[in-house]
Amino acid sequence: MIDLLIIGSGPAGLSAAVYAKRSNLDVMVAEKEFLGTGQIAGSIRVDNYLGSFGMSGYELGESFRHHAEELRVPFYTGEAVSIRRSPGGWKTEFYGGEILEARTIIFAGGTVPRSLNVPGEQELAGRGVSSCVVCDGPLYRDKTTAVVGGGDTALDSALYLADMCKKVYLIHWRKDFRGNHVTLEKLRERDNVEIIRNAAVKTINGTDIVSSITLTNGRLLKVDGLFKAIGSDPGTALVKDIVRLDAYGYILAGEDCSTTADGFFVAGDVRTKRLRQISTAVADGANAVFSAIAYLKANE
Ligand SMILES: Cc1cc2nc3c(=O)[nH]c(=O)nc-3n(C[C@H](O)[C@H](O)[C@H](O)COP(=O)(O)OP(=O)(O)OC[C@H]3O[C@@H](n4cnc5c(N)ncnc54)[C@H](O)[C@@H]3O)c2cc1C
Repeated sequence: MIDLLIIGSGPAGLSAAVYAKRSNLDVMVAEKEFLGTGQIAGSIRVDNYLGSFGMSGYELGESFRHHAEELRVPFYTGEAVSIRRSPGGWKTEFYGGEILEARTIIFAGGTVPRSLNVPGEQELAGRGVSSCVVCDGPLYRDKTTAVVGGGDTALDSALYLADMCKKVYLIHWRKDFRGNHVTLEKLRERDNVEIIRNAAVKTINGTDIVSSITLTNGRLLKVDGLFKAIGSDPGTALVKDIVRLDAYGYILAGEDCSTTADGFFVAGDVRTKRLRQISTAVADGANAVFSAIAYLKANE
């Protein structure tokens, strides 16, 4: 049985890994994606994390990971599918049946992109439907794309795509956008961007790949790709019977990252907090490890 299992390799999980390793804990990081760095990989440019001016989220995430790897943090690739108490700790089962036992857990599973819940979305996921312009945008050079959403991520994504696509539709179900008005102005100045308000996506059409979308206002838009930028929800289905959640599904925890379950800590976007950013995720990683160490000492 190891001292600490960290679930998730985003900024919170990688920060926890660095603190745990430097505290000489017998630690392991479990991650759904091989060589993951969390959702920051999808950020076009990160200018608000100290020291990262001008960097892309991909570059920053890689530097986080490199730091943990230099300290020889062990990684396990697999999705945790169940977590149960075991004598002296926790038993985590992974997709495929492998089991890891640890005296403590830091759950840093982050959030998952929200779904549009429309016909065609599931069927065409990865075949024209995406949530990450940085990852998939370059596949649509000189093609037509649509971005759905009204916040900063949607506006930034549309601007990013406007530099490479023949045409970009920005679709928002309300009249007003929540995102930065400077970005919105830049989008308005682009000849290849069409902003559509007061309309939502009704269906995503195509047999093998996306060919068009139908909007609630009746318009049919021929597109090659559709990018969802409508926010995200906490990925807490796995832990809902272990710890207390708030009404939105986030794990209840304060700055010390302790949850309602002994020896089970939480870090990053998946916990209750006001601001979900890299800086707060990284801080949580450090705090969670210090709480785990205090718990381990008290239960030696
Ligand atoms: C497009 C975009 C742009 C952004 N731009 C900025 C920005 O400019 N500045 C900023 O500060 N923040 C930005 N953010 C927010 C920032 O990315 C998050 O606050 C941060 O990534 C949270 O880190 P985290 O470690 O809590 O979670 P995540 O980064 O979500 O990482 C969680 C990890 O856990 C893994 N995981 C989940 N469940 C399991 C499981 N059951 N088993 C194994 N692994 C699991 C996931 O696969 C993922 O890799 C942006 C986010 C997005 C989507």
